[in-house]
Amino acid sequence: MKKTVLLLLILLCFFHSGSSESKNWHEKRSTHFIVYFRNAPLKFVYKVIDKAEDYYRDIADSLGFRRYQFWLWENRAKIYIYDEAQGYQQATGSPKWSYGHVMPRDKIIHSFYNERRFIDQILPHELGHIIFREFVGFENTSIPLWLDEGVACYQEFRRRPTADAIVRAAIEKGKFIDLERLSSFTSRSMADDETVQVFYAESVSLIAFLIAEYGNDRFVVFCRRLRDKKDFLEALKASFRVEGLKQLEEAWKDYLFR
Ligand SMILES: [Zn+2]
Repeated sequence: MKKTVLLLLILLCFFHSGSSESKNWHEKRSTHFIVYFRNAPLKFVYKVIDKAEDYYRDIADSLGFRRYQFWLWENRAKIYIYDEAQGYQQATGSPKWSYGHVMPRDKIIHSFYNERRFIDQILPHELGHIIFREFVGFENTSIPLWLDEGVACYQEFRRRPTADAIVRAAIEKGKFIDLERLSSFTSRSMADDETVQVFYAESVSLIAFLIAEYGNDRFVVFCRRLRDKKDFLEALKASFRVEGLKQLEEAWKDYLFR
């Protein structure tokens, strides 16, 4: 149980703007990325580069986003691999349970050497945030936290099937967070481990539901409307013919128990 909660907690990540100090780092460059590292083994660094290039292509495809801004030359994303948790936490001001940090506008990701989480979870999750925000707008306040985190979690290896099971269990145990409440969630609403776990599970389950039920094309239309009109309920109605959060919640629950 503790392990599951920890894995979910790592996905709470921080957004802030600013620049990173790139002095005293080794670096390796690929077409779309610059990876900075200190003592991480080269084999690991090359694996990070390979996977980052794969995710760069696959994440936009999985969401149906067409890319207009390519991450080339000076526009490449930067990935900082710290040697250990402490250095990462000090540099980013992240709490002890945090394993990944993202600055979407600057396309900068910070994490530390830890192969399993870095490659399969942190990297796709943080890249998901950047790609999504690049599409809907960095300052777009009509995006609820669940949509942002749901899209990011949707990219993680094996996250979706477990999420649906957690949501079904939450409904049965009376721990379900209704969509009205979910939509007003901020990082301050994460009162305890169980709330965090249910929040993330619901977020990714909703994204998986929208894409499976309505298809990528309509999901893209929904995101485009959010980008252009910036009204959540209007975008919901125009894209999925769903009238309000209650109706969306009912359709999603039907899908979960189908
Ligand atoms: Zn996140």
